[in-house]
Amino acid sequence: MKKYLRLIIEILMGLLLAGALAFGYWSYNAKAHAIDELTDVSEGVDETKQELEKVTKELAEVKEKAETFEPAARELAAVKGSFENGVVLQDYEAFIKAQKGPVISERQLGLGALRLLTKGAQDPDTVAAYQKALEMAEWSSRLKSICAAQNALVAAGQKVKVLADCAEAEAPAKKHEKHAVHWAYEGEMGPENWGDEFPTCGNGKKQSPLNIVGPFEKSKDVLSVSYKEGPLKMLNNGHTIQINVEPGSTLKINKEVYNLVQFHFHRPSEEQIDGKPMAMTVHFVHKNAEGKLAVMGVLLSEGKDNEAIKTLWENVPKNEGPEVVVEGVKFNPSSLVPAALTHYSYEGSLTTPPCTEGVQFFILKTTVDISKKQVNDFPFKRNARPVQPANGRVINAS
Ligand SMILES: [Zn+2]
Repeated sequence: MKKYLRLIIEILMGLLLAGALAFGYWSYNAKAHAIDELTDVSEGVDETKQELEKVTKELAEVKEKAETFEPAARELAAVKGSFENGVVLQDYEAFIKAQKGPVISERQLGLGALRLLTKGAQDPDTVAAYQKALEMAEWSSRLKSICAAQNALVAAGQKVKVLADCAEAEAPAKKHEKHAVHWAYEGEMGPENWGDEFPTCGNGKKQSPLNIVGPFEKSKDVLSVSYKEGPLKMLNNGHTIQINVEPGSTLKINKEVYNLVQFHFHRPSEEQIDGKPMAMTVHFVHKNAEGKLAVMGVLLSEGKDNEAIKTLWENVPKNEGPEVVVEGVKFNPSSLVPAALTHYSYEGSLTTPPCTEGVQFFILKTTVDISKKQVNDFPFKRNARPVQPANGRVINAS
């Protein structure tokens, strides 16, 4: 009996030992697992902490930016509030209506801005005002107006192709590197595609230049030119040679006074007489007090050397660049104008983008000589827009 008891005790002891070992192993495993989990959790906490730091930093940056926008937003709200009752807009609209002749682009831009502030960007009148301003902006010097109108139209949600130069205008360092506006006389940016960026060039119905061909109506306009000698300010703008004129030189159309702003050259002449272009043409560009433009064209035909052209060509800037004042040289634009001012006249447009209409053209019948060599010395081989459809326009002859 004792022998069995001992065996039983030994078995029991054995079982106990095995149980203790099993428990020990199990609890060791459990502990190890718990430590693993704890490590995972603490790693997770670290990641969350880093994420939180990043978000906090970003939030601080956004706040800083918002603080700089805040005064601008307050200013804009104040300006908007001041115009909200619409009285100023009404006054301004009445003022524009009372203007004689076409509205100048800066005033049209102002109208757009007032409508934007009073009626908002979604109002069709706002969009229309800016679209009109965009079509009116003249010459490359009006790039600022073009950009202002394009940016406003974009703000109004309109699909407008903003000129690359407008982005450049905001980066002053790059400003003078390229043409103010991209267009050319040949290739992809040539006259047949000007309408892509300048709608009036493509869809205008009173475009210049014209082929001057009868039947003519009798012109009742009497011209008188009073140009004065002044400093020679020349410019190669990448499209032509332009001479800027100081105030004081005028063209009178009947009793209306137009100031000569600048004159420039085209090779060959843009206007054709009975389907034939001349060697070159000079366009004298005038503007009256209301901003209406009048261009007087003098055709240059191949012949003798021209003394006035000689003076100009001696100082001509061969490469594109800003205006140069030629020291010690005076020039009188009348030295390029024939004595007789009999002319053909018609309603046309700028012959360069943006092709704005409402420009009166007077093409003098008397041509002025230029030698073959002088024509060849002009820095542009070809800078003439092709003739445009008359679309029923009357050409007058005096
Ligand atoms: Zn011209």
